[in-house]
Amino acid sequence: QKAELEKLVHNPTITADQHHVELAANIGSPADVAGALANGAEGVGLFRTEFLYMGRDDFPTEEEQYLAYKQVLAGMGDKPVVIRTLDIGGDKHLSYLDMPEEMNPFLGYRAIRLCLDRQELFRTQLRALLRASAHGNLKIMFPMIATLEEFRAAKAILEEEKQGLQNSGVAVSDRIEVGIMIEIPAAAMMADVFAREVDFFSIGTNDLIQYTMAADRMNERVAYLYQPYHPAVLRLLRNVIEAGHSQGKWVGMCGEMAGDPVAVPILLGLGLDEFSMSASSILPARKQISQLSREEMAKHIDAILQMSTSAQVEAFVKETILQED
Ligand code: PEP
Ligand code: MG
Repeated sequence: QKAELEKLVHNPTITADQHHVELAANIGSPADVAGALANGAEGVGLFRTEFLYMGRDDFPTEEEQYLAYKQVLAGMGDKPVVIRTLDIGGDKHLSYLDMPEEMNPFLGYRAIRLCLDRQELFRTQLRALLRASAHGNLKIMFPMIATLEEFRAAKAILEEEKQGLQNSGVAVSDRIEVGIMIEIPAAAMMADVFAREVDFFSIGTNDLIQYTMAADRMNERVAYLYQPYHPAVLRLLRNVIEAGHSQGKWVGMCGEMAGDPVAVPILLGLGLDEFSMSASSILPARKQISQLSREEMAKHIDAILQMSTSAQVEAFVKETILQED
């Protein structure tokens, strides 16, 4: 079984009906690059940069960040690397950053909200990313985008920093894509509007599910409501993928759902382009996808989205597509 999977390490991910989808790795530090490649990653779909800021007493300098980003980009060669700007707040705190006590941290001051407010912190990270871009295939992603104004503000700051670096003669790649995470229902609903301005979407289902179902992803007592296969969630996913494609933009997913064997056939049928997951899930997913026809999966989508409950969807996929009992 393991030897069987090993053979797929250097293969691209091709469906039974010959469509290519990209299987990428979620990583948390430069040290994870080796494992991602050993597990056959075609790229990095999410580099969570929080690790650089955690377990220390002060912000990482631009130089420290630059070296870390460069290491990841160079390590991945020409493969795409999506680096997410700082997503602190919510459940993640920094001892050296003064944060307000909040009633609802997951609905509070975090991620892009904090970065647009504390711009010196954001600009330092962006300069480090821009400088590192000369060493690989960088895509920059903003987390927790709720409104178009937030995206425009973040992009404008990025452009300012890029100009500044170029004016002082620093090499910056001219092919950096800039995208957003879709993890807030408002952004999922407005995906057609965002699609005109972003280069890509990556769907963060870990948060999108919690916000759609109003069920805290860390709270055991409401875990029964945290339902990835709920038709409400699936309809949002369809909206996002269709909106992206109608503007010629690629759509990925970097939440846990992307590596879930029950979700994979649905995501394939919805037309998802990139699946980003923990490295150890990549080869099993590549094998599963090689046995699925995207066209066949697409035929099930209308029926699935008309179902009434998560349980119905799950039972349908298991019985009809995965042929389990
Ligand atoms: C997500 O929300 O799905 C996601 C990938 O980001 P995080 O788990 O870091 O919130
Ligand atoms: Mg998230």
